[in-house]
Amino acid sequence: MVFQCQRNSFQKEYTSTIESIQKAENGLIEVIFADTVFFPEGGGQPNDEGTVTKLADQQEFQVKNVIRRGPKAIHILSDDNDPMANLKVGDEIAQKINWNRRFDHMQQHSAQHLITSLFETEYNYNTKAWWLGTESSYIELDGDIKPQEMLNIERLCNDYISQAIPVSLEIFEKPEDAGDEVTRASRGLPVDLSGPIRVIKIEGIDSNMCCGTHVKNLAQLQVIKLMSIEKGKGKILVHFLAGNRVIRKLDEAYQRELDLNVLLNGGPDYHKDLIKKLQTTSKNSQKTIQKLSRELAAILAQQLNDQPNPNPYYFLHRSDGVEVDFANTFLRTAKPKSPIFFFITISDGIDSKSGSLVLQGCPEDVDALGGEIAKILDGKGNGKNGRYQAKVTKLNKLKECEEFVKKYFENK
Ligand SMILES: [Zn+2]
Repeated sequence: MVFQCQRNSFQKEYTSTIESIQKAENGLIEVIFADTVFFPEGGGQPNDEGTVTKLADQQEFQVKNVIRRGPKAIHILSDDNDPMANLKVGDEIAQKINWNRRFDHMQQHSAQHLITSLFETEYNYNTKAWWLGTESSYIELDGDIKPQEMLNIERLCNDYISQAIPVSLEIFEKPEDAGDEVTRASRGLPVDLSGPIRVIKIEGIDSNMCCGTHVKNLAQLQVIKLMSIEKGKGKILVHFLAGNRVIRKLDEAYQRELDLNVLLNGGPDYHKDLIKKLQTTSKNSQKTIQKLSRELAAILAQQLNDQPNPNPYYFLHRSDGVEVDFANTFLRTAKPKSPIFFFITISDGIDSKSGSLVLQGCPEDVDALGGEIAKILDGKGNGKNGRYQAKVTKLNKLKECEEFVKKYFENK
């Protein structure tokens, strides 16, 4: 394997030449350089991103992705600046990787080596897989890890980090030269690879075949935080953060804490109690609103019951988001002196245009009016036996509906 990804030093710019450039069948522009500092996706680590600059005229091209094909790293360039027209085989270029992205990947990836190794030596839990995400990463373990064990591994990780233990790299011409311990620990090399292998050693702790990029010593990890254990679907995942991601997470959490201090009008020690108090108050308020709305519905129904000669129709529109139970209570209590067509709407929230519609009356009227009212209010509903219900979205058209109902009864 002739990857040059072992050149994972702090060198950020590197000169090389174009070995091949082509537009692939899928339309992507693929470039191979004589040598590269760009890491292709592999071993659980995402690819590098960055730029290449043509030295002859300083034109810059974006490297969007890098993939491995056999021993070659294929660089996918963005269409910007028309690479097919402006680059050719033999051109000298300067490669520059997005160092923040690379260093972040080095931190997460090297942290994974350390965490995996310690779970194995301390508790005999093996890592079945791992994932480096944009926000957080995890390892999948084959053992039922306990919270105390997780704390212990986190403490050990940070102890080793404080000792700045060296991380070194060795190349072996043949896998068997690397020793049984290393090759046995490996989950196997990709089938399309041959040639020398790379072994990453964390001095006195771990040796592992790996093509990824790593820190030079554990001090560059800064800190490791094991965040949580996720169990489900037959998997046990340990989520972790390393280095700058820990600082970023702490900053986010602290900013959220400051916002909550203002919103809750109290310091972090009181946040839980203050939120519980708010939840209780809100629950009690909801119960009170329910009780009062039922009482109001009953009063309105009673007023109607007391009318000696009521109209043949009755409109009741609530634009305050009162609960739907309001309509049921009203209709249960309403016993007018002559048959009435009820037209009730309740908005979803204060002055919301959407809400619910309930019609009740003699089946002939409800059948004649239901569909048309739902149409004007832009809703869909159904009904039978003199009752029609619908969800509507244009409560601002209520006046139009009322006119329609009035006309219907005038012409009846
Ligand atoms: Zn590695």
